[in-house]
Amino acid sequence: MAAPNAAQKSERAPKWQPSLELVPPGPLEPNREPEQLPLIRMLEVVRERVESIHAGQRSMTEELREIRQNLPQQRRPLSPRTQALHVSVTLGRRNGLCPCCQSVPVCNEHGRLAGAEFDHFFSRSQNRATQTWLVCGECNQQFNNTEFKAAARSAFEAYQQALKPFLGGRQIGLWF
Ligand SMILES: [Zn+2]
Repeated sequence: MAAPNAAQKSERAPKWQPSLELVPPGPLEPNREPEQLPLIRMLEVVRERVESIHAGQRSMTEELREIRQNLPQQRRPLSPRTQALHVSVTLGRRNGLCPCCQSVPVCNEHGRLAGAEFDHFFSRSQNRATQTWLVCGECNQQFNNTEFKAAARSAFEAYQQALKPFLGGRQIGLWF
């Protein structure tokens, strides 16, 4: 066992010798301050690289934003939590009636009624509680009419005022 180990050692030693020749001679010269200068240069190189990466990242972010703006808007459904919040607030503060026309029932203690729709008031991609509401099917259809939609704005804002105290989740489920 001892013999092969000794043989390996004697083989290894000469292999390491040539690698010493690859070390640049500069830092090893005795009359220079040995390590500081190269280190500072290296840091400068690193800093330049990092800055150029950041610049590239910035331009990519801008391009991505442009691409996104030009995409057709995707309809983003309301989260179950937001839906539950609307049902809860509509039930508690509007007696379950459509907050737009205030006459058609849209929900009861079991949830949304058939025909009622969660409307994205501002755009199909904006699906937060503050951007949506639960309305009857008839109102929902009429939102395509810009005059009707404009007239509905004050009802939407009034509903949002009623909703405000329940944002943040503390009082969800108060009526269940
Ligand atoms: Zn309605």
